[in-house]
Amino acid sequence: MGKIRVLDEHIANQIAAGEVVERPASVVKELVENAIDAGSTRIDVAVEEGGLDSIRVTDNGSGIDPDDCETAFYRHATSKIAEGRDLFQIISLGFRGEALPSIAAVSKVRVVTSNEQDGRGRKIEIEGGNLRVNEETAAPKGTDFLVRELFYNTPARLKYMKTIQTELGHISDYMYRLALSRPDIAFTLRHNGNTLLQTLGNGDALQVIAAIYGTQSAKAMMKIEAENMDYTLQGYISRPDFTRANRNGMSLIVNGRYIRNYGLMQAVLKGYHTLLPINRYPLVVLQLSMHPSLIDVNVHPSKLEVRFSKEPELFSFIEEAVRNVLRQEILIPRPAKQT
Ligand code: ADP
Ligand code: MG
Repeated sequence: MGKIRVLDEHIANQIAAGEVVERPASVVKELVENAIDAGSTRIDVAVEEGGLDSIRVTDNGSGIDPDDCETAFYRHATSKIAEGRDLFQIISLGFRGEALPSIAAVSKVRVVTSNEQDGRGRKIEIEGGNLRVNEETAAPKGTDFLVRELFYNTPARLKYMKTIQTELGHISDYMYRLALSRPDIAFTLRHNGNTLLQTLGNGDALQVIAAIYGTQSAKAMMKIEAENMDYTLQGYISRPDFTRANRNGMSLIVNGRYIRNYGLMQAVLKGYHTLLPINRYPLVVLQLSMHPSLIDVNVHPSKLEVRFSKEPELFSFIEEAVRNVLRQEILIPRPAKQT
């Protein structure tokens, strides 16, 4: 008799949760990304005590079909891809089918969802991966996701959580990036009842920048736009005299997904060349679009890291675009206004 066993789904989910759900902010990210994928135009996030007590994400998206509600919590269950080749053409934020089972494995979850306009919906409750309730209920169209007592059954992970302020900081950081990536969606973030972020969802990226960084910052921004055969770039970069002490104000969004990429950031900084004071960084929000086959998002469970198939070309495209804006806006004095 061999000794190798295939682990049951319950343990597998707990193991996956270790990767997917690092802290409350990961739950916020996964739930909001699901809400975005569901085509929502309004997404409200309310957290208590840095998300350690509860995280609630309410959307007005497609809702989940009553027949799918339980399946959505199975491992590798997704409505977003169906076959292997879809992996090279990803247009949704999710595709791994891991978030819901992972979150449900390490918390107490209640979902109320409806995919109909008729007010009928479904309620699901899961505790530590065990289904407790699956019943019909009245619900508006969309999905209302409540996650309580995160890591209640994984004491080692719970002990690792930082202060409420630190956890909240991670949550707002994600919310900022998500709001920046979708100016067409109205977002709110509340903590213990206080509103920390509110965007209008009118498609105006500058309004989102103002909501996050303040109107002074928004005023210091210059529009950037560029296009070639492979890439379309648009967004805002700050004037070189408006800088920050770290790179946190540099947001890169590729095909609607906020990503982290050192090379891309360097390309932006190279575009500024010597215009930036030493150890100072610009405020940058770049929206980059490319054919999904030019980017691999299946690198890490958090989907924050990606790989580009033509890195050197992409980096010089970005650098050039930044340099062009600066050249036009800063170096060449604008002609005096005719009066
Ligand atoms: P993934 O996003 O990778 O598909 P998840 O575990 O995050 O995997 O979600 C599983 C499935 O549940 C999704 O594919 C989607 O069909 C459904 N779902 C989750 N959240 C929502 C939501 N807010 N609105 C509509 N459908 C949702
Ligand atoms: Mg998802």
